Amino acid sequence: MLDEKIKKIFEKCNYNLYPPIPKNMLIELSNYCNSQCIFCANSKMTRPRGEMNFEFLCKLLKNGYEVGIREVGFYTTGEPLLYKKLSDAINYAKQIGYEYIYITTNGILADINKLKELIFNGLNSIKFSINAINSEDYKFIHNVDKFDTVMDNLKNIYNYKKKYCNNLKIFVSYIATKYTDYDIKKIKHFFSNYCDEVIIVNVRNQSGMMPIESEFLKCNDENNKIQSSRVIPCHYLFNVLNVSYEGYLTACCTDFQNYLAYADLNKVDIISAWHNSTITKLRKEHLKFKLGNNLCYNCIYGSKKIPKPLDESLATKINENCFISLNKFNKRIRERKSKMEIVDLLNNRKELTGETCERNAVPYGKYRLSIHIWIVNDKNEILIQQRSANRKKFPNMWTNTGGACVVGETSIKTVFRELKEELDIIPNIDNLELIASYKREKDYVDVWVLRQNINIKDLKFNDNEVQDAKWVTIEDWKKLLIEEQAVKSSTDYFLKYINNEF
Ligand code: SF4
Ligand code: SF4
Repeated sequence: MLDEKIKKIFEKCNYNLYPPIPKNMLIELSNYCNSQCIFCANSKMTRPRGEMNFEFLCKLLKNGYEVGIREVGFYTTGEPLLYKKLSDAINYAKQIGYEYIYITTNGILADINKLKELIFNGLNSIKFSINAINSEDYKFIHNVDKFDTVMDNLKNIYNYKKKYCNNLKIFVSYIATKYTDYDIKKIKHFFSNYCDEVIIVNVRNQSGMMPIESEFLKCNDENNKIQSSRVIPCHYLFNVLNVSYEGYLTACCTDFQNYLAYADLNKVDIISAWHNSTITKLRKEHLKFKLGNNLCYNCIYGSKKIPKPLDESLATKINENCFISLNKFNKRIRERKSKMEIVDLLNNRKELTGETCERNAVPYGKYRLSIHIWIVNDKNEILIQQRSANRKKFPNMWTNTGGACVVGETSIKTVFRELKEELDIIPNIDNLELIASYKREKDYVDVWVLRQNINIKDLKFNDNEVQDAKWVTIEDWKKLLIEEQAVKSSTDYFLKYINNEF
């Protein structure tokens, strides 16, 4: 599996000042991309856009093979399927004798015919970079509305692989952000029928190029255990050759401005470049855990200081404004944030403190206010609703209506809003009763009962939240809880109330 393979490469890495020529080479065929991932420095890159000259590429592949390279990946900072001669490049690498040829693609252009052509020419594996599990998240993360296209492409090629070429490996990589850090099991499950393996990582600072964005996007390690850290010494310097489209050897595959470029392969051969004084100095810094003012320092320590390039003649100057501000991503993050709910904070006496915060960022010792509503008809049945399959928490589970009070909202106002938003119910205020209030780790919960006969046919579901609703008896509800098909929430308070009453 790919995860294991990466671990092995990491473990076997020869952390030697003059390491042997690696088995693996990554080639940037082009730095163009047809996506604008919010965590990726591609769209703020000021290095001129371009693609590798095909004759140079053939020479590079040939020279690489002669010095012992056996695996080649055609991707680094751009989308490889935008390179018109990708099939020819794969074919040439195969003819020379490369044992493993792979690409990472965002999948937008990966239609079945294109991929069949690449496989026919010798492609061994494809990694789809899909950083969302629904189209709304996809649009926010990738800034293009292509979720369905990409998923269709993935499904088609996986079906093809199963029928005709089982040796082909298909992977999905998922960069999780705090807006898309669904449960790991859920993400894996979503893709599991369409690929051999799913690799999930927490958003990183893109080798130091996205110091600000990563702060805003990073998901909470504790919540989902998605790994994110880089370690020093970094294995990339010792076991991978990365070549930019200009033909520069660089220490890192995400060196968008060539700040870690250390040799020009148009002028020098691979072996002398691999051991030249510039990269040897950087390796020494890594081995001594003492990094200078370079991109690696920013990458490892999350620094926002403008780094210095290893070789100014090969680098394109970083745009400082762009580097230290959210710039073009700001609008996207702001829009997304505005969709997130802001809540009032309460103290431990349930009093308003005058402070507010994001719904999911309630600080320790403070609380927000939530409501649960039990809708009961005159047969003493309760109306329950089934959470949508794409909900982050408790997908497909049965529950009662509820939600968080947003800033400035009272408990009863939230009852009206939630019933309207989730099921399109307008409650009769005379039939509403507050039956309990209790404290949890992050919120106070007001428990309401609404006595109202409602026809299921009159309900309109908010598809993002609810997929079904039904009347059940109390016994049915208890059964659903035992079968773990329902969320218990304020059941105990409701049962106490209802049992006292009857
Ligand atoms: S992560 Fe890949 S697909 Fe997304 S913008 Fe960067 S290069 Fe393009
Ligand atoms: S910037 Fe340096 S430390 Fe970070 S991943 Fe690249 S090579 Fe490794």
